[in-house]
Amino acid sequence: MPGLRLAGIAKSFGSVHAVEATNLDFAEGELTALLGPSGCGKTTLLRMIAGLEAPTRGAILLGEADITAQPAHERKFGMVFQNFALFPHLSVRENVVYSLMISGIAKSDAMATGARLLDLVQLKGFDDRRIGELSGGQRQRVAIARALAQEPEVFLLDEPMSALDAKLREDMQVELRMLQQRLGITTVVVTHDQREAMTMADRIVVMSQGKVEQVGSPQQIYHQPENAFVADFIGRANFFDGVAEAAGVRIGSVLLDAAAGAGFRPGTPVSLACRPEVACLIDCTSPGTSLPAKVTFVRDVGPARDIHLETEIGRIIVEYARGETDQPFAVGQETTVTLPASGLHVFPRAERAAA
Ligand code: ATP
Repeated sequence: MPGLRLAGIAKSFGSVHAVEATNLDFAEGELTALLGPSGCGKTTLLRMIAGLEAPTRGAILLGEADITAQPAHERKFGMVFQNFALFPHLSVRENVVYSLMISGIAKSDAMATGARLLDLVQLKGFDDRRIGELSGGQRQRVAIARALAQEPEVFLLDEPMSALDAKLREDMQVELRMLQQRLGITTVVVTHDQREAMTMADRIVVMSQGKVEQVGSPQQIYHQPENAFVADFIGRANFFDGVAEAAGVRIGSVLLDAAAGAGFRPGTPVSLACRPEVACLIDCTSPGTSLPAKVTFVRDVGPARDIHLETEIGRIIVEYARGETDQPFAVGQETTVTLPASGLHVFPRAERAAA
């Protein structure tokens, strides 16, 4: 199956620049998540790929073929919409084989394909049920089976989990990912849920205000965020505003040892980000800056514990996974927090994510 390429693709609605000139490659067989806050342009980008929205400029290439002007129904793309868009008056089987029947395929072949796909999405035996008689998760499976019926070259999903409750959503993320890997189908998923993107994707495209902020594996996006927006939108981070100096980053009277600050001209206003699990309270061996701190709040959420601290440079949250330490922390306790130099991300001062 061919890969997909977007070359300088952009979309404006009047004066609204929904998607600014974007270059992206979707590698063959990979699952890419388009991730970002509401209104960042993810759906518009997906709809352009699907052929449901004409780009204002730029080109879409499938393998070597320019498909920019090809109408949606001529693209062999399977699409699953947020609300699944199933036909309520048809049975599960009819929903799945509908597109095959109208494309003129022999009824017996369509039925065989339908049975195979219902088996694939674990809905064997549900063939004659009406859509109204299915749970949200089962409806999603029907939508997936229907999208796969035409043996699509590319699989496009717009917020496929949003109609499902939290528990089912997590199960379906894993199932859908395993199915996609088994089929080896090039897939693009729109989501605003970072956990969903991290669970399912080979690569994540983080978007904000019509622009691509970063493209990378889930691990790269989390551990090597390229700007303050990405560090803020993906996972949690302690943020501080400071000014770069030759020897580190100054926040008020504190000079922080920050390996990543070395690239900035002294005097540059910067933002610093430190993941809560990187900040350290006990047995800190990584070199960094240690600060006096006072415990203000302890939050125990089962698998992890957050210790909130007040320090000279502001509030810091330190996270310990269950089992990492059983040392108790009490509100009001005086302690010392260390921010490891290698764990501080330094960015030009810029707006962070709202989420
Ligand atoms: P959400 O997660 O809320 O669905 P999104 O990231 O998918 O958001 P889009 O739906 O792509 O965002 O919208 C991007 C921008 O383009 C928004 O400012 C939106 O209001 C605008 N927009 C989208 N479709 C249209 C349209 N048909 N006419 C005018 N503006 C539009």
